[in-house]
Amino acid sequence: MSECIFCKIVGGEIPAVKVYEDDQVLAFMDINPLNNGHTLIIPKKHAETILEIDPDELAAVMKTAQRIAQAIQKALNPDGITVIQLNRRAAGQVIPHLHVHLIPRWEGDELQISRWEPVAGDMEKIKEIGAKIKAEL
Ligand code: AMP
Ligand code: ZN
Repeated sequence: MSECIFCKIVGGEIPAVKVYEDDQVLAFMDINPLNNGHTLIIPKKHAETILEIDPDELAAVMKTAQRIAQAIQKALNPDGITVIQLNRRAAGQVIPHLHVHLIPRWEGDELQISRWEPVAGDMEKIKEIGAKIKAEL
């Protein structure tokens, strides 16, 4: 039996407030919401991060994320929606089963996400790193 908490939600071993499911994907409410309407979208088939997931499974997750975002917009009328997906512990991933967060945002909500101060980088270094990534494609 899987020890993964999100696999347990998929298997119905632990409860969740589900808002959508199909063969590939499940969407349910986050139990520690950063704002009202904080929703998670996961593949039903276990995959830890964006690095390992099958591209078709990822596409299904992202398509569903758009549908749920549209439903959140209609249901809650937020001023914005933050979409985040964390990969591995260094990025803040706590549950090692890929999930996309949809976080409704309201002006002035002061959530400490996605509000960084832009600091200009060194263009030579940016180009060098861009070339390194491009060479791997
Ligand atoms: P992350 O840091 O991206 O791995 O976030 C994991 C998220 O899963 C957090 O926002 C948690 O609040 C949420 N979470 C953990 N356990 C559950 C659960 N049983 N049902 C719903 N959401 C959960
Ligand atoms: Zn899992």
